[in-house]
Amino acid sequence: MLSRRVLIVADIEGSSGCWNYAASSFLTHEWALACEAMTLDVQAVVKGLFDAGADEVIIKDFHRTGYNLMPELLDPRARVDNGYAHGPIPGMGDPGRSEIAMFLGLHAASGTRGVLPHTMTSRLAEVRVNGRLLPEVALFASLLAPYNIRPVFFSGCPIACQQARNEVPQITTFEIDKTGGPDGFDATTWRHRLAQSAVGALTNCNTRPLEGRGPLEVKVVFRDGAPTAKKMAHRWRLQCQGDAVHFIADDLPALFDTLSRICYLVPVLLPLLPLALPLYNLKGRAGLAWVRHRLKKGA
Ligand SMILES: [Zn+2]
Repeated sequence: MLSRRVLIVADIEGSSGCWNYAASSFLTHEWALACEAMTLDVQAVVKGLFDAGADEVIIKDFHRTGYNLMPELLDPRARVDNGYAHGPIPGMGDPGRSEIAMFLGLHAASGTRGVLPHTMTSRLAEVRVNGRLLPEVALFASLLAPYNIRPVFFSGCPIACQQARNEVPQITTFEIDKTGGPDGFDATTWRHRLAQSAVGALTNCNTRPLEGRGPLEVKVVFRDGAPTAKKMAHRWRLQCQGDAVHFIADDLPALFDTLSRICYLVPVLLPLLPLALPLYNLKGRAGLAWVRHRLKKGA
């Protein structure tokens, strides 16, 4: 059976134009080029999905500010959600009537090898759940489970793909091999194959929504070491041990909530979040305007 309503969650690290940390950073020359390549990757998939019979595609831009994709280069039939939303899904917003999710351009977990690996932020050296290193795909997929949205497709570096298959058995994966560097990488051919693979996943009926039920025993190790762990433990009332904090989460969505707080917030800001988000999104929009200007000048 063919699923016709698709949610795409797009990141930049595993996309075809991101070859180093600068390209995943904000307002760099490399980032401008990576935004364009990421948009073209997503567009190849979107076109393929519509051609194959999809009738609803929602694209969630989920890298850094959430403003990396240029909607004007994407099929107008798709809805592009830039920026971050307070709800109904934390960060992601409204998933519409999506039946399945496709994760494009993701990366491997903190503490593992792969291209630009991290979980939430590179400031976290490791996030372990019941002893296992946690990749973001598990967190994001779990946010979609209450809406009965099944993860069916994942693309990223080979290690990221392996981690996705571990978290979501039977998920279709498509790799990007960056070991040879950007020179000589044939993005057009790769994109074409990416789209073909994603279209094939429209009939992947073998996956289940990832509920991520707990209790989950969580350990978060900070790259900056014990002083940061101590500060975060105090700030969020968690247990601290050396360079890590420990806590129990009820399930993966609850873990996502706690990690988001640890990585991006301070308690005093929590009640202000509905006000702070539009400001943060404004920063993202300004960044994307800068990208367009840069690309027009021939970045
Ligand atoms: Zn990212």
